Amino acid sequence: MNKKIFITRKIPDLGITLLKNKGYEVDVYSKNRIMPQKELISILKKKDYDAVLCLLTDKIDAKVYDAAPNTKLYANYATGFDNLDLVEAKKRGITITNAPADLSSEAVAEHALAMILALAARIVEADDFVRRGKYKGWDPMNFIGTDTVGKTLGLVGAGRIGERVAIFVKGLGMKVIYTDVNKNPRIEESAGAEYCKTLEELLPRADIVSLHVPLLDSTKHLMNEKTFKLMKKSAYLVNTSRGPIVDEKALVKALKEKVIAGAGLDVFEFEPKLMSGLAKLENVILTPHIGSASIEARNQMAEVAVNNIIDFFEGKLPKNVVNK
Ligand code: NAD
Repeated sequence: MNKKIFITRKIPDLGITLLKNKGYEVDVYSKNRIMPQKELISILKKKDYDAVLCLLTDKIDAKVYDAAPNTKLYANYATGFDNLDLVEAKKRGITITNAPADLSSEAVAEHALAMILALAARIVEADDFVRRGKYKGWDPMNFIGTDTVGKTLGLVGAGRIGERVAIFVKGLGMKVIYTDVNKNPRIEESAGAEYCKTLEELLPRADIVSLHVPLLDSTKHLMNEKTFKLMKKSAYLVNTSRGPIVDEKALVKALKEKVIAGAGLDVFEFEPKLMSGLAKLENVILTPHIGSASIEARNQMAEVAVNNIIDFFEGKLPKNVVNK
């Protein structure tokens, strides 16, 4: 019998075509918005889907699993998988996969690099200044920023994305230090990165701190009032990982009180909502969770997510199972 797949929001056609070419029946949520969990539950109760391709904006928990006793696979269209309850899934024999596409890691690393350079050169503030008609002629003291050459990047998390960021900034002439639960010999070799055993050891030494850890109990609010105070006053924070890794209220306070110099954020603690006061600050760059939003990355993510589904139904172990 044909497999039935439900997709919670439109993804690139390439992924949908791959599924259809296998003869699968594919239904895509018809509205162009984040699917409310209630609607997902109601759809899953009405039709017996064999798999769901879901997004990082979908909360997939016991309520969803209970609504679809015959759905044995949830393929997340994202590298992170903090939106799914893995423990409940395992109890029910449900497989969860993620989609860590190489080009997605590349795109996020490029986004982090863009933020590092834009913060140092104050590009976004200066762009706003010009657009508002405030530019009255060259001024030797206007928008003084900082160079990146010779500065130190502190990486928190040296996995797929962190490693790429390290290689990029080595090209800028930056020194790289990193902290991770595991030492990474590759990053030491490729970028001459120096390992710091703890976050507390890394923070006072870094001119830019870039976060690349997954959201776990152990990483929630890793950056908080106490850890901001360990950073240099001149330092910048870049977060392209997950919002709740940063205590956003404490960040706004640290930025207002100049405990740190600025921040580049692609993700937010309560996204899409922003902490009160954040958008008013000039020393921040805010992007709407678009780290992996290159056409190349999104196509490859679709391929990876869909191949996990195809492998699963062809009796092979999908490449990206995260709840073995
Ligand atoms: P990865 O699994 O390859 O690397 C994560 C690293 O963090 C690993 O080396 C791991 O050992 C380390 N780590 C885990 N817990 C830690 C802790 N408590 N302290 C220090 N280090 C710890 O993941 P990745 O592909 O590099 O992605 C990192 C995160 O980026 C993802 O989990 C995801 O949430 C996020 N992401 C965001 C976007 C975006 O659009 N902004 C896109 C893709 C991924």
